[in-house]
Amino acid sequence: MSQDANCLFCRIVTGDIPADIVARTQTVLAFNDIDPQAPTHVLLVPIRHCANAAELAAQSPEVLAELFSVASDIAASRGITGYRTVFNTGAEAGQSVFHVHLHLIGGRSLAWPPG
Ligand code: 5GP
Ligand code: ZN
Repeated sequence: MSQDANCLFCRIVTGDIPADIVARTQTVLAFNDIDPQAPTHVLLVPIRHCANAAELAAQSPEVLAELFSVASDIAASRGITGYRTVFNTGAEAGQSVFHVHLHLIGGRSLAWPPG
């Protein structure tokens, strides 16, 4: 199964739910976060449903690499040289949508460590 009808990000992939699309490749979709935490806050998701980064690494490492490659292209196209890429894995870490998504956050200086 490549899409899950009950999954928010699958529904964005299919166009069922609108999103502000930033980039698309054969395997990855990038769209603006609905609640941006920085001037650039893009979510990058595999087109095929997958729950989290660990599953994606096991099933499709090339798609995992593609998420970072597209994130880097988006940052470069905006002249952003320093940015953060984050996977939240599991509810304890703040994952709220269980379709793996890479947060690309940039366009301002970022504090460390995160909360
Ligand atoms: P998580 O907390 O799972 O790491 O990240 C989920 C992200 O999805 C959050 O940053 C949240 O703002 C974003 N989000 C939740 N619902 C929607 C939506 O309907 N559209 C978009 N574009 N982003 C969403
Ligand atoms: Zn999904």
